[in-house]
Amino acid sequence: MKARVIVTKRCNRKCPGCCNNYLGLVDKVSFEDLMKYDEISITGGEPMLISERVVELIHRLRFNGYQGKIWLYTANVHRLKRYWAVEMVIDEVDGVTFTLHHSNKEDKLKSDLYDLRRLDQYLAESDRTRKHDRLYIDSRIVNQEYIDSLNYKWDVMKSLEWKENGDCPLPEGEEIVVYDLEAEG
Ligand code: SF4
Repeated sequence: MKARVIVTKRCNRKCPGCCNNYLGLVDKVSFEDLMKYDEISITGGEPMLISERVVELIHRLRFNGYQGKIWLYTANVHRLKRYWAVEMVIDEVDGVTFTLHHSNKEDKLKSDLYDLRRLDQYLAESDRTRKHDRLYIDSRIVNQEYIDSLNYKWDVMKSLEWKENGDCPLPEGEEIVVYDLEAEG
């Protein structure tokens, strides 16, 4: 079984239709529960807001013998190359899924695109052997044809059709749980 693990509900964005607004009650799990999953996808909210705690979690899992895949879902790499833990998370997970969200504010979109270019460059210059990185871009920003024309080397690059009705099905064999890193103290 795979787990999509919400490590914080905090996020720097307020996307209309954010799946978290439609989740209802989600089971909280213990660290021991996490160890039982075959794969763990770290998500939020925005996990990169607490990247140092995410580093600790990854290290704890590995130190305790966790051998499954650990993935990161993020939409915020603004502190890449400015804060050690952001790079460390990216380096240590088995793959990053980065989503470029739509913004009505032109400045925000510009800075998101700038951050994406920096992330792309960082991944291109890193050793990503046996890693699997995925880039999703909201189709209101660019279409698939445009994404295909980008000279990026991600394993997956897809246009994402945004839904504002909370219709966010999980892949089969995956369940969503909460492991609140901030509540851990
Ligand atoms: S970035 Fe993700 S978690 Fe944050 S508000 Fe948007 S959809 Fe929700």
